[in-house]
Amino acid sequence: MSSQRCVQVAVDAPLKELLTYRVPSDLNFIEEGMSVTVPLGKRKVKGVVWKIDVTPNGEFKLKDIIDSSSERPVLSKSHRQWLEWISSYYLHPIGQVAALTFPPLKQKGRSTANAKKQVIPNIDPSSPPELTEEQKSCIEAIQSVNGYATHLLHGVTGSGKTEVYLHLMHDVLAQGKKALVLVPEISLTPQLLKRFASRFPGQVAVIHSHLTEREKTDQWWKMILGEAQILIGARSALFCPLEPLGIVIMDEEHEPSFKQDEKLRYHARDAAIVRAHTSHCPVVLGSATPSLETWRNCQTQKYHYHQMVHRVSERKMPEIEVVDMREERQKRRDQEGQPLPFWISQSLYDRLLETFQKGEQAALFLNRRGLAQTILCQSCGYVYECPNCAISLTLHAKNHMVCHYCNYTDRLTEQCPQCADGDIHPLGLGTELLEEDMARLFPDIHICRADRDEIQNRSDLEEMISSMESGKTDLLIGTQMIAKGLDFKGLTLVGLVMADVGFSLPDFRAAERSFQLLTQVSGRAGRHSEMPGQVVIQTYNPGHASIRYTQDNDYSGFAHEELSHREELRYPPFGKVASLKIIGLHHDRVVQAAEQLAQRGFVLQSKFPPYKDLQILGPTQAPMAKLRGKFRYLILLKGSSHKMLENFCQQLTYDLKWMPAGTKLQIDMDPMNML
Ligand code: ADP
Ligand code: ZN
Repeated sequence: MSSQRCVQVAVDAPLKELLTYRVPSDLNFIEEGMSVTVPLGKRKVKGVVWKIDVTPNGEFKLKDIIDSSSERPVLSKSHRQWLEWISSYYLHPIGQVAALTFPPLKQKGRSTANAKKQVIPNIDPSSPPELTEEQKSCIEAIQSVNGYATHLLHGVTGSGKTEVYLHLMHDVLAQGKKALVLVPEISLTPQLLKRFASRFPGQVAVIHSHLTEREKTDQWWKMILGEAQILIGARSALFCPLEPLGIVIMDEEHEPSFKQDEKLRYHARDAAIVRAHTSHCPVVLGSATPSLETWRNCQTQKYHYHQMVHRVSERKMPEIEVVDMREERQKRRDQEGQPLPFWISQSLYDRLLETFQKGEQAALFLNRRGLAQTILCQSCGYVYECPNCAISLTLHAKNHMVCHYCNYTDRLTEQCPQCADGDIHPLGLGTELLEEDMARLFPDIHICRADRDEIQNRSDLEEMISSMESGKTDLLIGTQMIAKGLDFKGLTLVGLVMADVGFSLPDFRAAERSFQLLTQVSGRAGRHSEMPGQVVIQTYNPGHASIRYTQDNDYSGFAHEELSHREELRYPPFGKVASLKIIGLHHDRVVQAAEQLAQRGFVLQSKFPPYKDLQILGPTQAPMAKLRGKFRYLILLKGSSHKMLENFCQQLTYDLKWMPAGTKLQIDMDPMNML
């Protein structure tokens, strides 16, 4: 027996367990939470000391820790507890979870002084406005609870939720604590940063995916060293080990982008709640359209509920007109009496005309890019498909075909590749087509298109925003990129060109997503005018619940109806779901692996009584049956509790050596993306 000290380390490698190492005698100080470098096979890897003074089980010859890393801060007990929760809840190796807590680069060579571009906009300080009664009472109610609590701030678009966050943060900072603000990547606009930076000059740091690794590292250290007290970021900012943490705020908590879809498939909302719990601080979730999970947790009083039903300064909620496109086929005409394009109703056209004549701004929303979704040969029925993905190619810019999943591109040929006649026709509708048609209908207006083709980086986004703010742009045409967060003074008319996109996606959250999107998009209109904003929703399904309840601005009515469907089928929030995705290059092997895995699942279930109520559905082909050259099969697990699913998955996947070569299993707990 060696008398040397041994510790367990969470090593940054795909390992289920902690590894034991000896502490060399020249390493005179070691503590839990400290970063170390250790040997792993022939490599040197980083890790975090998880337990000190463990007794080795003597079978293996233990290796020595190479050195400790003074470069990285020691992780607190509460932070480590939180990392452990993530690791077990999402079945992800603890060492790889722990590694996410550190910045991508070394601290050395920090270059805040000579940084070329400013990560946080320079801005004049501003003082807070007089709070509304609703804002005051929400703030009081939130502050009346000590320690950990989850609060939902349910406020209509434009009710001043951000002002509530700013106020709460102010009080947290006054206590010498730090604040974490999580927003969807897409709403991390210069507008939003300016609002925070002007209220808290010099105290804000930001982390998002458009920063360079150097910038991310610098922002991270600003927080750790206490140079800034407020961290604003997309979901990954949650991992920054802020101490002491005084509040976590998550705006637009319903946003599906808070769920990471690859590697560690965590939901930042749920992780934020646990983070607040281990840090004994409040977490405030904000939304105009809360997720049904959160809504249900308020109904069962797990979360505290706070509501704001009025827009600030008595600004009105938008007026929503729903146009049944089935009745719009023939009669539509423009000013000169010419027929209108098939996608626009008379009412939307007339209102656009009026808006431009008054010198106000309008936005058209369509959740589809390009000119047409399908390119079809009318003689033989041939459809251009992506060779890597089971999906048709989208037409862009006359003859440029693109796969929206893997970016495969091809040129549209005049001749059909399958038959000689070749009568190729683009079918469908996208933002590019809207732009073309609108430029023809309104030759004098300035149009800006905001979709992934036009807006590829932050400076494109900033340009779009400033041309809207300055009034240069008359018409904004965009995808969901323009649905969220944006706040333009002159924008009084919003048109939803085809609300139906998304209604029939094979996903139990399809109706919820549509309702959220419609409400969010509508909320962009008339945020600053005395007159209510105008919204035109064009649809082929005017009776769809998402549309009816959006029109009536009736969130709770929608939630009530949708929850009753969910309850019947035991979908979240009434049950828990996990998806097991089997992917691989060879179709037959993927099928074989999926079938065998399901079979093993059934055997496991029959052996262990606690799994009696579990439902194992599938395997079935995933809705996206092939993606980026890989075939995909799905097994869906439904259970009454997360713990049951977690245990089941752990047992089922403990040993995966039997899986056919070239196949891979991805486990997704609480999946948000069913495709
Ligand atoms: P939400 O996040 O709920 O959509 P915001 O926080 O963006 O709403 O507020 C909408 C607008 O109202 C913003 O321009 C904001 O500056 C303004 N605002 C918020 N609170 C007040 C207030 N108490 N008095 C005056 N204006 C306010
Ligand atoms: Zn593709």
